[in-house]
Amino acid sequence: MSTPILELHQIEKSFGGTRVLDGICLSAAQGEFITLLGPSGCGKTTTLRIIAGLEDPDAGQVLLEGQDVTAAPPEKRNVNTVFQNYALFPHMTVAANVGYSLKLKKRPREEIAAAVANALALVQLDGYEKRYPSELSGGQRQRVAIARALVGRPKVLLLDEPLGALDLQLRRQMQLELKALQKQLGITFIYITHDQEEALNMSDRIAVMRAGRFEQIGTPAEIYDHPRTSYVARFVGEANVLQGTVAGRDGDVLVLDCAGGCARVQAPKDAPAQGAPVTLAVRSERVEFDRTSDCGLPATVREKRFAGGMLRIELALADGTALVASRHGIDLPIQPGEAVRVWWQPEDAVLVDRDAPGVKEAQA
Ligand code: ATP
Repeated sequence: MSTPILELHQIEKSFGGTRVLDGICLSAAQGEFITLLGPSGCGKTTTLRIIAGLEDPDAGQVLLEGQDVTAAPPEKRNVNTVFQNYALFPHMTVAANVGYSLKLKKRPREEIAAAVANALALVQLDGYEKRYPSELSGGQRQRVAIARALVGRPKVLLLDEPLGALDLQLRRQMQLELKALQKQLGITFIYITHDQEEALNMSDRIAVMRAGRFEQIGTPAEIYDHPRTSYVARFVGEANVLQGTVAGRDGDVLVLDCAGGCARVQAPKDAPAQGAPVTLAVRSERVEFDRTSDCGLPATVREKRFAGGMLRIELALADGTALVASRHGIDLPIQPGEAVRVWWQPEDAVLVDRDAPGVKEAQA
């Protein structure tokens, strides 16, 4: 395997006695798009600042192309950052903003002009060289910030909520553009977002963070279809998390006693024994309904609503546990007050919380 472009080994960081990063490990390949996804305050920006050299870790190492750069200043790392608030110099033209880092490095004037023109073309802002930031829209300002970060051709681009200030339509358009640009350039992107849809759409891998640790690192499909913990299941997409007990086995399927009924789940390789307590997660859109058979879990329909083209049906299971079912763009003949049974395909449910939280990615 080729050397990863970026490696984080056991990074720890505290502020004023509070542990903010607690043994972060990550390995990013050339051209990989990795998203750090997690709630406010979980340590995403601190991780990025440590990669950029803007913050020193208390313990652990940062490696770029196999070289330990933990003690190196930001300008000695082939890494650049794009912030949410653009951080453009208001008194400088677009061209001066984009070429600023090359000017600091005293590159020849013609080389700077060519690099600036090239970077502006990448973000589709040719012809905007002489404008000032105040003469640009929010989307155009963010494009300038991206061009400025790309002009030195970094190996790794760090992006801290770069689209956070844009409206939804522009945000979606910029998501597509950024992803296309990243593919075209083959630069590794480490991207921060709160927005799970953005993370699922854009990333090669997602690192779901919780209180200074990576709870799970995987492809969008792995994170969505095979969450390892109830936290990941709830944070990405809408999942129902239910407690149960293993009642028996039916071939490849584990049969569970759960909320006054019977639930089925694909048996994992190291399936828990009969009688073991388990936690199960099932996506709201995978919940099916039945009125006739006696399989599944008895439930009562509490609410039915449409929001943004999405049907949401809220139910209460026999033991009072809440459960949500959803569908995109269609209605279901189910009404509040009705008694139904809910079920799902065994492969649509997963057992979660089977090992200790916190993922230590394999050391490269
Ligand atoms: P958000 O999504 O809100 O930006 P985040 O996941 O990026 O959050 P960080 O900015 O990394 O979170 O902050 C993690 C924790 O560290 C927070 O509790 C924050 O208050 C604290 N923190 C960050 N920087 C400092 C600092 N320089 N001094 C003290 N505490 C800090």
